[in-house]
Amino acid sequence: MKYCDVSLPVPLDQLFTYSLPETLQHRVQIGCRVFVPFGPRKLTGVVLAVHDQPPDVPVKDALRLLDEQPVLECEMIALGRWAAAYYCAPLGEVLRSMTPLTGELRSSKIYELTDAGRDAARQLMLTAEDNDPAVRILQLLQGHPLTAAYIKQKVSSAANALRSLQKKGFIQVEDTQADRDPLRASADRLRVQSNDERRTTNDERLPKWERELLAYLELHPGSHNLAELEIAVKNASQSARSLARKKLVELATESPLPLADPRPIRTLNPAQLTAYQEIEAALRESKFQPFLLQGVTGSGKTEVYLHAIDTCLAYDRGALLLVPEIALTPAVAGQFLTRFGDQVAILHSAFNDVERAEQWRRIQAGKARVVVGTRSGVFAPVRNLGLVVIDEEHDGSYKQQDTPRYNGRDVAIVRAQAANACVVLGSATPSLETRYNAERGKYKLLHLPDRIEQRPMAQVELIDMRHEFLETRKQATFSRRLLEAIAARLESGEQTMLLLNRRGFSSFVACRSCGERLECINCSVTLTYHRRDRRMLCHYCDYAQGVPSVCPKCQSEYLQFIGVGSEKVEDELHRQFPTARIARMDRDTVTGKRQFEKILYGFREAAFDILVGTQMIAKGHDIPNVTLVGVVSADLGLAMPDFRAAERTFQLLTQAAGRAGRGNIPGIVLIQTINPEHYAIRYASAQDYDGFYEKEIQFRKLMRYPPFCALANVLLRNEKQDQAMAMSAELASVLDPAPEGIKVLGPAEAPVNKLKNEYRYQLLIKAVSRKQLNELLQRLRRFALDRKWSPASLVIDVDPLSLL
Ligand code: ADP
Ligand code: ZN
Ligand code: ZN
Repeated sequence: MKYCDVSLPVPLDQLFTYSLPETLQHRVQIGCRVFVPFGPRKLTGVVLAVHDQPPDVPVKDALRLLDEQPVLECEMIALGRWAAAYYCAPLGEVLRSMTPLTGELRSSKIYELTDAGRDAARQLMLTAEDNDPAVRILQLLQGHPLTAAYIKQKVSSAANALRSLQKKGFIQVEDTQADRDPLRASADRLRVQSNDERRTTNDERLPKWERELLAYLELHPGSHNLAELEIAVKNASQSARSLARKKLVELATESPLPLADPRPIRTLNPAQLTAYQEIEAALRESKFQPFLLQGVTGSGKTEVYLHAIDTCLAYDRGALLLVPEIALTPAVAGQFLTRFGDQVAILHSAFNDVERAEQWRRIQAGKARVVVGTRSGVFAPVRNLGLVVIDEEHDGSYKQQDTPRYNGRDVAIVRAQAANACVVLGSATPSLETRYNAERGKYKLLHLPDRIEQRPMAQVELIDMRHEFLETRKQATFSRRLLEAIAARLESGEQTMLLLNRRGFSSFVACRSCGERLECINCSVTLTYHRRDRRMLCHYCDYAQGVPSVCPKCQSEYLQFIGVGSEKVEDELHRQFPTARIARMDRDTVTGKRQFEKILYGFREAAFDILVGTQMIAKGHDIPNVTLVGVVSADLGLAMPDFRAAERTFQLLTQAAGRAGRGNIPGIVLIQTINPEHYAIRYASAQDYDGFYEKEIQFRKLMRYPPFCALANVLLRNEKQDQAMAMSAELASVLDPAPEGIKVLGPAEAPVNKLKNEYRYQLLIKAVSRKQLNELLQRLRRFALDRKWSPASLVIDVDPLSLL
């Protein structure tokens, strides 16, 4: 008898043993996925051992083998083990995030009637019993084709009936994968055009909306994006799908990645060349070498990456480029497609599960040797990895906020080390940790000090909003200086970007009589007023309620809307500049990658004069005609109870300033603030990274924050407040007295004490040594397991980026 040990995506740190039935014995290998019973459920896990030692307890059979060839090679399993140990996460959950192949499992069969079946349906209906499953199925299918899953749900013991109907030639089956079926794709991914050949039916019998759509398509021949069509024709999406089933129109999915104009291959300037040559030398020697490529915004870092990737391919090794979530727009991806052709795989969040699995397979097969992806791309099975580039390495989106809470940048470095690969961390504003590593010689520092073609950096001015108030006696959103500057741009046809780090209209509603603030019912945070939707919204859990007209506590009518959000900024701009064309970009106006791209595209093509937005607009977009960047309030982020508040503010302001003057006309940046003396704001306005670093690193050293300690945030959550408090106290007692070299802060209420109906208490653990920190955290986990606490109640976040 043979057995396999399987790692399952459950919150337990052990492998589970299953016996292998005859048919699987010779096929199962380490790194393959198997489908196994687990209690009442069935789960997919990864085989980590195959052996013939019978376990002490009775075991069940594995049900199915999902891969004939391993999906995880030994090195990747080793990487998974490292991540699980380092981040204190269950191995099975790590391995699951490493294999994004669920799209392959969701294949679905679609059944439809044949002509014979249609005749038979009529016949059968007269003669057969009504509760005969075959009859029920034929009846159902007379409507339209249906998925197997749907039929099985509607008709009991459908499987046999389906088989016999198929044998008789009454139904045919199309084995489409659910996500690839155009009828199921979302409207913005579909193109529709009329199907002229098949138009024999009498349109009169069609529902009204379908007739309207056909009429529209007749007047506007060619193919149309379905989402856009919905604006012109009511119910277009529904009608198009229905018409497609009747074969009266054709639906086709549209690739999420348009081909971009080919990006010209540039000759590197001297600074770029020096940086490139260092990387080239390390690639030539095939050795592990991390670099920090620190270059001001617009200094041409991307071009260095591209040359390095070219060289890496020339040495016959694969390359991985990670970019922040928001930066991987279809246009950016398109640039890589045009440069590297079908050697590129893109791991894009606009892809559905099936497409993602397809890309993954191409990488694994060695067909795609360059991979461009976001955080989880770090696990892509690139063959013979030679180079990993992490663009904007300081970006927060590299850190996953759910289990496993890994940082893609740090995993990339560990992976590169095992593969003897080079790592290039690129940024204009490196994280303190990374720059510190460069200072200590762990990373080699490469500098791009100037913008391409000696374009000047934008000139930055601080506007003290306290003076503005004293002089104007008005609590205004915009200073006079900012308004003038915007007006001048409108006059000259140049463009403006306005940054405000808060969406919604006002930040909260307070009662002037009793001081009550309107809070979320699920979270201990105030609700934000969104005027367009006329509702109060929680930005943490999406709870929404109507806008009150009187105070819910004292019934007073004196409610005050306090604070400014991006929606209000847009609104005030419209009032100040009635003829200006204004676009807004925040999570309310951007719900999909497509919309994000569309707004940016419109702005680049000068369809708008002003773009208002949250930090979304600060990142990486290269729009030459922007000569003014305004920051409405630089102060919001500074007030956060987080030791990284200054660093984040500095990064955001510097990145925002980097958006101005990227073309031939120099740009200016106006930053409104009530904290003009704060060092983060001062150094950002001087665009002085080194100055900021020196100051901030002193603070970190003094307070023993990273990079001068290893930090973990241990969070306890429970629906009952006293329960959460008691658990955190119990856990704290395990740490008391704290061992030498460990410092424990708390337990204390988390800054957001209640979130989605759970109360949260936290312990912050600082350690001199990583090893010691890890041992301690593992001890806490075992403690929670022994006490049988629910796995969700204990959250361990190693190297946390946010302490909220
Ligand atoms: P960064 O990523 O450092 O902000 P980019 O890589 O986006 O900068 O480069 C800024 C602009 O300069 C881009 O439009 C790019 O095409 C252009 N560029 C980069 N390198 C060169 C070069 N060597 N010669 C001319 N233009 C270049
Ligand atoms: Zn009140
Ligand atoms: Zn909430």
